[in-house]
Amino acid sequence: MTQSSFKARCVSTSETMADQAALETKSVTLAYEQNVIAKDLSVNIPHGKFTVIVGPNGCGKSTLLRSLSRLLVPKSGEILLNGENIHSQSIREVAKKLGLLPQSAIAPDGIKVIDLVSRGRFPHQKWFQPWSEADQTAVELAMQATGVIDFAQLNVDQLSGGQRQRVWVAMALAQETSLLLLDEPTTYLDIAHQIELMDLFQDLNRIQGHTLVAVLHDLNHACRYADHLIMIKSGEIIATGSPNDIITETLIEAVFGLSCLILPDPISNTPLIIPRGRASTAAN
Ligand code: ADP
Ligand code: MG
Repeated sequence: MTQSSFKARCVSTSETMADQAALETKSVTLAYEQNVIAKDLSVNIPHGKFTVIVGPNGCGKSTLLRSLSRLLVPKSGEILLNGENIHSQSIREVAKKLGLLPQSAIAPDGIKVIDLVSRGRFPHQKWFQPWSEADQTAVELAMQATGVIDFAQLNVDQLSGGQRQRVWVAMALAQETSLLLLDEPTTYLDIAHQIELMDLFQDLNRIQGHTLVAVLHDLNHACRYADHLIMIKSGEIIATGSPNDIITETLIEAVFGLSCLILPDPISNTPLIIPRGRASTAAN
């Protein structure tokens, strides 16, 4: 199977879902018992776009992603998936529409790469049906797209952090959902593998029509790849829109407390954020 057959398969998958609405939260309160992380939060994930969520450590990005994927029930407000309350849909129904790559996912001890990727097929399987050709094809294509097919028979714990991360992405792709939520998908990767994976996500979005939501720490990657950027601080949305429209030195200072210089990225013409840090004092 080739990269192009992977694309052809995903195009047909996304086309059948073309009239589906986006994900949204409507005035949700997200909390862990009494610890309120976000109050009255309304987030819109536009259909067919690559949305990136950024914000300081602990501001609630993973909490928001968990709520968007039905893992965390809001204390108030509602979450709509394709215009329908996500909690009125079963876990299996949601898992056919939406895949989540959690932050710091932990693989079961001793599991092989192919077996972990195969777990992405769970929502498509029925107890009375054996593993199908469609399941096999989805797993192989996902492993090819992420470059992990050569490791198929290795144990996940034998892999480097970067290779392991690509296996998790393969598992999410094998699920064949039109919506993918990715929590810090590039964190353990070297720069070349970060770009390779970000380019893969961009292809999934632009060529195959997947709606993507990624939490990223690298602001320059966020500006380069996002159609729609959401900046969060302390559980509140501070700005949303295209990076070119919203990113300013004042905004970065307000959200991250970081003094910086912003130039146009000569490759992508998106904002390039250069921290001033102590170097600016030394230069003056
Ligand atoms: P981010 O992803 O932006 O770094 P998180 O959403 O993980 O932030 O966390 C937001 C806040 O919620 C933090 O203060 C964190 O300590 C708290 N938190 C996260 N997960 C849990 C949990 N399972 N139980 C209790 N508090 C949590
Ligand atoms: Mg997080």
